[in-house]
Amino acid sequence: MSGFDTEVLVAGLGPAGAVAAAAAAAGGARVLAIDRRAQAGLPVQCAEFVPMMLGGDTPAVRAARVQDITTMDTYVRGAGPDITPDFRGHMIDRAAFDAALVEAARRAGAEVRLATPLRAVAPDGTCTLADGTRLRPRVLIGADGPRSLVGRAAGMPNRALMETRQMSVDLPGPHDATDIFLRPEIAGGYAWLFPKGGLANLGLGILPAKKALLKPLLDALHAELLAARRVGPRLARLTGGLIPVGGIAGLAARLGPTQVLLAGDAAGLVNPVTGAGITPAVLSGRMAGRAAAALIAGDAAAAADYAEEASDLFGPSIALALARRGEILAASAAGPVTDAALRRGWIAYDDYWSRTPANALWEVKEPA
Ligand SMILES: Cc1cc2nc3c(=O)[nH]c(=O)nc-3n(C[C@H](O)[C@H](O)[C@H](O)COP(=O)(O)OP(=O)(O)OC[C@H]3O[C@@H](n4cnc5c(N)ncnc54)[C@H](O)[C@@H]3O)c2cc1C
Repeated sequence: MSGFDTEVLVAGLGPAGAVAAAAAAAGGARVLAIDRRAQAGLPVQCAEFVPMMLGGDTPAVRAARVQDITTMDTYVRGAGPDITPDFRGHMIDRAAFDAALVEAARRAGAEVRLATPLRAVAPDGTCTLADGTRLRPRVLIGADGPRSLVGRAAGMPNRALMETRQMSVDLPGPHDATDIFLRPEIAGGYAWLFPKGGLANLGLGILPAKKALLKPLLDALHAELLAARRVGPRLARLTGGLIPVGGIAGLAARLGPTQVLLAGDAAGLVNPVTGAGITPAVLSGRMAGRAAAALIAGDAAAAADYAEEASDLFGPSIALALARRGEILAASAAGPVTDAALRRGWIAYDDYWSRTPANALWEVKEPA
């Protein structure tokens, strides 16, 4: 496919980009999908939990499933657990998941090129790849993650990010809960222990200004859990990455004649409290891919429709999470954070969901 035959260029082949490429190709568009990574999904930068509902319509979840999760166990400042029953989902092998989605994009007819970074996006929509290839796609889908080059070029960068660090540790026995640790010192974030068969992902996310604390806090939590014989000593893998926590960065814009659509982390669709972004990446990727195919087929309203539908779907829960995140950051700036404030800032507790002006919209859209 030569550069100027490309109707739809998808930048990034994480879940958002792979699903977008598949949907656009299935809708009849000529699609080129690129990723700077040499292998889909590697290195893994994820705690690998997905909610049950994603498995229902995404075969890649079943292909990559490692174990099921039934509850969420929350520990506030060491006390607990407070058990959230029926918090069902799956732990997946994220590399296998991403690889399955990329394979599905190929099968749908998208041309997939790995080890192919997007180097620049000009104001007229011209895209330059690292090898010097220049393309002017009619639709450019930015699915290139938290620091999206496409999003920045189109004036829609992510406004806030969370820093993370995660290790894989041995798990002495079976566990079917996602464990959450809320502590005042984990400013603007939390720690997690997610079981994955004989291993577990033990990680922590924190405000960028506190990045230097990631290692000592995670090492201390590991030592604490080791002493309680809840995890083993072996560190199988160390990873990390950025999580957008500033809310929706933007969904659609134009660069000259090129229509830009953002999806997944590039669009800031992650929940700013939990950091969960796989489900919105898959759902928004599918919507953006369909919109791209519709645009190519002549439906000029498809970009605005995508922006509206994605805002309707993700906006209310993101707005509530932003409000709660804002409250807890304000509380920690004002003085010692109470246990009640930690609970109000986490989805396991009724107070998180309680009515406030900030979440009135959410309550209208999604009645309890
Ligand atoms: C430590 C950690 C733990 C997490 N745990 C969970 C969890 O348990 N559950 C959950 O739901 N979410 C979790 N998340 C969030 C989740 O991983 C993301 O929301 C999800 O990956 C978003 O998918 P995406 O396709 O939008 O972006 P990504 O998966 O980030 O994919 C973006 C792709 O774009 C590529 N790319 C970037 N720039 C370029 C470029 N210039 N040219 C070409 N390619 C480019 C990258 O290589 C990458 O493959 C976690 C995140 C982190 C960091």
